Amino acid sequence: MKNKPSKISRKKFLKTGLLGTAGILTSQACKPETAKSAAIHTRKRVQWRMITTWPANFPVLGEGCNMLANWVEEMSNGRFKIKVYGGGELAPALETFDAVSDGSVEMGNGAAYYWGGKIPAAPIFCTIPFGMNAQQINAWIYEGGGYDLWKEAYAPFDVIPFAGGNTGPQMGGWFNKSIDSIEDFQGLKMRIPGLGGKVVEKVGGAAVVSPGGEIYTNLERGVIDATEWVGPYHDYLMGFHKIAKYYYYPGWHEPGPILENIVNREAWEALPKEFQAILETASARQNIWSLSAFEAKNNIYLQKILDESDVQIRTFSEDTLSALKGATESVMQTLTDKDAFAKKVYDHYQVFRKGITNWNQFG
Ligand code: CA
Repeated sequence: MKNKPSKISRKKFLKTGLLGTAGILTSQACKPETAKSAAIHTRKRVQWRMITTWPANFPVLGEGCNMLANWVEEMSNGRFKIKVYGGGELAPALETFDAVSDGSVEMGNGAAYYWGGKIPAAPIFCTIPFGMNAQQINAWIYEGGGYDLWKEAYAPFDVIPFAGGNTGPQMGGWFNKSIDSIEDFQGLKMRIPGLGGKVVEKVGGAAVVSPGGEIYTNLERGVIDATEWVGPYHDYLMGFHKIAKYYYYPGWHEPGPILENIVNREAWEALPKEFQAILETASARQNIWSLSAFEAKNNIYLQKILDESDVQIRTFSEDTLSALKGATESVMQTLTDKDAFAKKVYDHYQVFRKGITNWNQFG
């Protein structure tokens, strides 16, 4: 990280943010409270900084972070404030986890699969190809034992996770080559990150990682043959319908990724209990709001894509999906062979998934 302060100065900065001059409100400045209310409400004032992996005010993802900060301020009567920074403003977007871990900021927002290089189990808490959808993974995290494992995964880094959003099911992506069978992935250059990218490589393609800002030009110029992004709303904003021939579904690689709020453990423990409850509640609200916003907007923007472009909407064939699924099993095997904790998490995930899939056939 550029201009990275030393660990000591970061800690000091963190402490100043929490407890310094802007920290606890002096009793003179505080409106006298009744004995009853004083027992209920803390007088502490807390100012936090939240960095994100998204550009500032990015539709839904960045907006959700701004809303979280507003809800926290509202619920705490202005005593707990969070200033939100876009990716790159205080730290490079993909160093969000590190900055929260070492306490240079109190919290961040991103997606667990970004930290897969550091924590092999991390992607399982976000999404895996052919994995659970948004409703199912929420069930696993909130009520199925997934949350304990998630906390366990981040504990060595002094980071506490909270579910803080979900894109819902994504689309399979924009293609300028027709995918009629799994053989069409041979030599296909596709922008697709994470485990989905590993699966594409397994079936003979080349997974390219390009920053968001370069994807459009790369697809237009044929540097890549295909790209996935999110779903109709975000994809429309990127303009891919103007330059791609085919828009494929389903988004086998990201069936319902959880987005996360991550909090520095020391900062969390320094919070009054009521602020902890407020943050947890706001995060759960952000989780359901973001999924709802994506679902509502995708509906509208899929229609706009159909109305405003000649793009053909196509589905991958059953055989293609089945081959991609087979490749996914092999990718997950390699991942869990290398890391015992990832195996523990994946086994737990699979048992839960089997059960809930069984129920969903009835429900
Ligand atoms: Ca995606």
